[in-house]
Amino acid sequence: MNVWEVVEGDKQVDHKEFLEQLKEKNEELNFMREISEGENNSGELNNIPFVAKDAICTKNTTTSAGSQILEEYQPVFDATVIERLKSAGASFYGKTQQDEFGFGTFSTNCAFGTPKNPHDEERVVGGSSGGAGTIVAAMDQPLISLGESTGGSITNPAAYNGVVGITPTYGRVSRYGLVDYANSLDKIGVLAKTVYGAAKGLEIIAGEDENDQTTSSKEVPNYSENLEETKGKLAVPKQYLELDGVEDGVMENFQNSIKELEEAGFTVEEVDMPLLSADYSLPAYYVMAVSEASTNLAKLSGMRYGLEFDPEDYEDFNEYFSDVRSKGFGEEAKRRILLGTYTRQAGYRDQYYIKAVKVRTKIISQYKETFEEFDAVISPSMPNIAPKIEEAEEMSPAEIYAIDTLTVGPNLAGMPMISVPNGKSEGMPTGLHIVGDHFEEQKILDIAYSFTGGDQ
Ligand code: GLN
Repeated sequence: MNVWEVVEGDKQVDHKEFLEQLKEKNEELNFMREISEGENNSGELNNIPFVAKDAICTKNTTTSAGSQILEEYQPVFDATVIERLKSAGASFYGKTQQDEFGFGTFSTNCAFGTPKNPHDEERVVGGSSGGAGTIVAAMDQPLISLGESTGGSITNPAAYNGVVGITPTYGRVSRYGLVDYANSLDKIGVLAKTVYGAAKGLEIIAGEDENDQTTSSKEVPNYSENLEETKGKLAVPKQYLELDGVEDGVMENFQNSIKELEEAGFTVEEVDMPLLSADYSLPAYYVMAVSEASTNLAKLSGMRYGLEFDPEDYEDFNEYFSDVRSKGFGEEAKRRILLGTYTRQAGYRDQYYIKAVKVRTKIISQYKETFEEFDAVISPSMPNIAPKIEEAEEMSPAEIYAIDTLTVGPNLAGMPMISVPNGKSEGMPTGLHIVGDHFEEQKILDIAYSFTGGDQ
């Protein structure tokens, strides 16, 4: 029995069976940070299981954002998205593994062990919402898996795990209760087995929230009910086709998807979007992301938040908090604190941060111009298949950052995007990325629905 049938009908999810499989799969793949037993909630979702990325606050449940420094942190409240899913009747099964504070592309920067890809256990699951993608692929029953994207962290693990992942427009979903990575970029979204599942999850969590002043008051459509097969005009940025490092198998699958879309009645045209090349969007993203991240992490000093040691053992506060931070943060977090402190420094701010903000504004204009003529922009979701964990550990930070080139542009622009499974290469899933204009979630969901053949 499929859970969506449960949602539509009055049958119950088999919680015992779900929990048993969750524990068993997690033993093997390590995608959960903490498993909760699920609870009975009444509402339209009729107890469909849901899980959340570790960075999303859950009352009295560990919320460590993948970091040692927050290992023991248990918030006293639920994030808005959690509250909304529970009130709609979904049943909470725990927190999924992620890169520390969202800093990563493979979930190899997780303080609680690296999750393994269900399609090949020697390979990574993607990041930073890695566990959020893996649980969807590993479990037999559909579920709603909450992820968070700053620069690609929902569509990346969706592609590497062969599932659907939607990142909404910035401001569509409340960030209240999210452990921030970079406030002007963070978006909470949904990973699910099907476009229908993603639409269902998104319509519940989206919408204005008085606790997050950046949420939009625009009405939230009933995405899942409105889903329909569609046709339209799709743009393929030339800069993505010319990008170095796109694997042949990935490009082949992408070219095949263009043919399929054309056969289904879409028109697909190449467009020039120069700012999406690795020379502009990538550095602009990383400068903005590390600048905001380094400020956000300043509060983790062992006073109000973070690891605590005995202050009596230290000479003064500086010594105390340096020790807390040295022991609590992982290598990538430290790297980003250093980089971000540098980019924000007086004297360098104009050269880096302010310049990045300007590039971002131009990227938004470039998308807006494209959307005057096109319904969506498409590309492969990731340039590669999930690399082997061993290979990933040998890559330099700059090599890893470059793998984000296809996802950072739309994330910087705050556009909604969805990744849907698009065949395999060397036995591993690849994804099709569909980016729409601000608040056009329904349009990209419909395109994705048409591409995947209307599965529920
Ligand atoms: N890989 C990107 C980064 O490390 C994106 C991560 C994210 O979206 N949280 O910043």
